[in-house]
Amino acid sequence: MRLRTRLALAFALLALVPLAVVVLPTLSRLRDTLSRELDARMQAATTSAQEALERSGATARRAVEELVDSPAMEDLARDAREHPTRAIQAGTAGALMKTRGLTVLSLFDNDGRVLSSGHLPARRGDPDPALFHVTRVKASRPLPVRVEVRTPSGLRQLPALVTARPVDYGDLRLWVVGGVLLDEGLTQHLARLTQARVSLLAEGAEVAVAGDAAPPTVARELPLGEAATVRLVFSRAAAREAEEGVMRAFLLLAGLGGAFAVLLGLLVSRWMTRPVEALTEGARRVAEGALDVRVESDATGEVGELVKTFNHMTSELKATTERLVASERIAAWQEVARRLAHEIKNPLTPIRMSLETLLAAQEARHPRFPELFKESAGVVLEEVDRLRRIVDEFSRFARMPKPQLAPVDLSELTQSVLALYATPPPGIEVQPSLQTGVVARVDRDMLTQVLVNLVKNAEEAMADKGGSLRVRVKGTEADAIIEVEDSGPGIPPENRARIFEPYFTTKEGGTGLGLAIAARILQEHGGKLEAGGEPGRGARFSVVLPRAEGATPAG
Ligand code: ADP
Repeated sequence: MRLRTRLALAFALLALVPLAVVVLPTLSRLRDTLSRELDARMQAATTSAQEALERSGATARRAVEELVDSPAMEDLARDAREHPTRAIQAGTAGALMKTRGLTVLSLFDNDGRVLSSGHLPARRGDPDPALFHVTRVKASRPLPVRVEVRTPSGLRQLPALVTARPVDYGDLRLWVVGGVLLDEGLTQHLARLTQARVSLLAEGAEVAVAGDAAPPTVARELPLGEAATVRLVFSRAAAREAEEGVMRAFLLLAGLGGAFAVLLGLLVSRWMTRPVEALTEGARRVAEGALDVRVESDATGEVGELVKTFNHMTSELKATTERLVASERIAAWQEVARRLAHEIKNPLTPIRMSLETLLAAQEARHPRFPELFKESAGVVLEEVDRLRRIVDEFSRFARMPKPQLAPVDLSELTQSVLALYATPPPGIEVQPSLQTGVVARVDRDMLTQVLVNLVKNAEEAMADKGGSLRVRVKGTEADAIIEVEDSGPGIPPENRARIFEPYFTTKEGGTGLGLAIAARILQEHGGKLEAGGEPGRGARFSVVLPRAEGATPAG
């Protein structure tokens, strides 16, 4: 991963981690607070529902007690003692019930028979054991029971809070059992009071319901003996909404913060890494050999120092390299001069000896002087010829003209060089393998000279025993290559470094300039000449040139 990307990520992490550290506990605290608040609200609502129930029970009880103590009741009891059925009629309880604001009222005789019923007049004359049972329970508070009533949809069992009180007149005892039905009126009142959805359950069925609670919800139940249960359903929607609001704000913040941090990271890292990247690029180019690289940067501090040191180093390197090249060149020419002197000295000895022989013969008036003269003159001429050859070769080497570059298809050029060997010397087999379309910008004549030289050397190497001469043209992405390989004796390792030196030769009558000239030609072309192969099994010379992509070869 690049330095820049890493820095941007680190910035984003730096921005997001504190945000997460703050927000997650905050969220959990908010959730706690909200749920505690809801708990308290539910507790308060349940309590007030309980109180409301108790209040309406108490109101009904007071109404029953006032009824029992009223003069009207005393009159009724007195009349009933004399003519029970005439005094208490089917509508009696109904009328009393209405005046007292009750919704349940039955008058019983002491045996549990209904004398009159306000909530179910049709009961008159029948026993109502469920309701009459209340008279047997000793309780100061109203009791929850299920009471049978007539509704538009027929007879129904509804829960009610009822109180029983006796009415005595002489030996007569009547029972008054009255109270309030728990129905829609109650659930509506409780729903208003608690802001919850309130339902009244009797035997698992919902008898009455009021209010709304949007999901999600939590429920609390308020049991009323076995008769009924009040269920309060509270909405958690508001709390959920608050949580989601905070979460949304967090996500928005995280998104914005993250994006901002990444942007900032990129900017900062760009500012920080630009000089480093310039240095990396500079170092790469120096490694490739470009010594005049200078890194331009306005960086300060350590990085600025590094840039300055780098530039200083490259200019030092350049100066040193130039000095080295210059001194190498001087040394090379000294060596060339030394060898040239040696080469010239060789023919001088036979010339001198021939002339001395002639002088001596003339002085002695040698009888065979004319023959001697002819012989010596031949030697002198031959050696002078050799001298001329040496001087010619040297001047060719020393005054190498600038190459005239043009795109050339190497397979075609190689083909034309090999054509000179259409009939190779006996025992030598030529095996060409020429990839077409490998083009390089070269001086055609100079490259021909190089190839002729390499082929001639290979042939000379195989002159004794014969063998095969493999000539290959191939291209890589960057290079155009010609290989000349023979199966001769190869190059001994101790000679490998010297074969490119001028005047190095192992051949009788060799000049030792062929490879030196070839290497220089390739150097002038921006290419190189490499020697390879295995000593004892053959030599391989590779001409490596920069490949000219897409250039059309001339001719
Ligand atoms: P010359 O051919 O006149 O000797 P060169 O510069 O062409 O000069 O070669 C220098 C030396 O390199 C040769 O004398 C020989 O020792 C060695 N050499 C060149 N080509 C080959 C080859 N194909 N196999 C073995 N040795 C070689």
